[in-house]
Amino acid sequence: MAKKISILLVYTGGTIGMIKDKKTNALKPFNFSQIVAKIPELEQLNCTIKSISFDKPIDSSNMNTVYYKDIVEIIEKNYKKFDGFVILTGSDTMSYASSAVSFMLDNLQKPIIFTGSQLPIGDLRTDAKENLITAIEIASTYKKGKPVISEVCLYFEYKLYRANRTTKISADQFEAFASMNFPPLAESGVHLKFNEHLIHQPKNKEQALIVHKNLVDEVVILKLFPGISILVVKSILNIPNLKGVVLETYGSGNASNSEDFINLLKEAIKKGIKIINVTQCKRGAVMMGDYDTSLLLKKIGVISGGDITIESAISKLMYLLDKKLSDSDFNKMFKKSIRGEITNNIDF
Ligand code: ASP
Repeated sequence: MAKKISILLVYTGGTIGMIKDKKTNALKPFNFSQIVAKIPELEQLNCTIKSISFDKPIDSSNMNTVYYKDIVEIIEKNYKKFDGFVILTGSDTMSYASSAVSFMLDNLQKPIIFTGSQLPIGDLRTDAKENLITAIEIASTYKKGKPVISEVCLYFEYKLYRANRTTKISADQFEAFASMNFPPLAESGVHLKFNEHLIHQPKNKEQALIVHKNLVDEVVILKLFPGISILVVKSILNIPNLKGVVLETYGSGNASNSEDFINLLKEAIKKGIKIINVTQCKRGAVMMGDYDTSLLLKKIGVISGGDITIESAISKLMYLLDKKLSDSDFNKMFKKSIRGEITNNIDF
């Protein structure tokens, strides 16, 4: 008899793993080792499921780089033992966490599926069951001994996305995530339909997993708005030890061309601070040089983030800053797709 696919479920926290305390009515985490008892449908899946939980499950608002490291270390430790991984986190910062994890894992050959829910698992109208069951089903889909997915994904409300392309778009609808610049990798309807042409295929199947555990957190996201004071920009760019900035610009990557503003950016770049241009628009890309108001940014050395999301840009910045690259290599690496996070001609 063929060996059953084995899945490791990692519970870090969030609504999905909570139940209402009957006495207090407050949400509290339940013991995840009892997950199959809570969702008996899981027994119908053709896989074995083991679970592991953070000692103290967190609301994803408390997510940080230490927890990112905990997540990748759990994956690293169990990588050979399991065929797929489902990571449960709160949805609020799931796009950040899953983007970061995508950069931290190199040569990934197995599915890592992030999911969560808007309502707790015990709620009558919960979205948790569908999200969890289908995420596990996806993580255990193997064809001819090979996983269909071998990248970091996010599954929510019938859609499987490349994680580092996602953004949380709704606080109250079950369809909480979107991937504006890249189509879903799979859709769950009557059938589970994979868009195979979009799914990453690892090039060298022999290469071992490489886990990058260090991220540089001396970074900031600076969102521009009409009327932002030059003092605010100056203060932010002069934060001690600042290493990188994701600059949220307008439209196709435009920003004020006032001399004061441009000079501040220029000085920061001269000091070695990396500045990444990412648009505030939910869809589309930065095209520096299309307008005068972005040509200057290009000239002074601001790096284009193309169509990357904010969540992915800040994670990639944290990841690349640790690599101590030369200016030109940093520039090249940021602009090219390394985990499918940016649309360009380079496969990852
Ligand atoms: N506040 C929760 C969290 O992100 C919401 C959720 O689980 O979706 O941890």
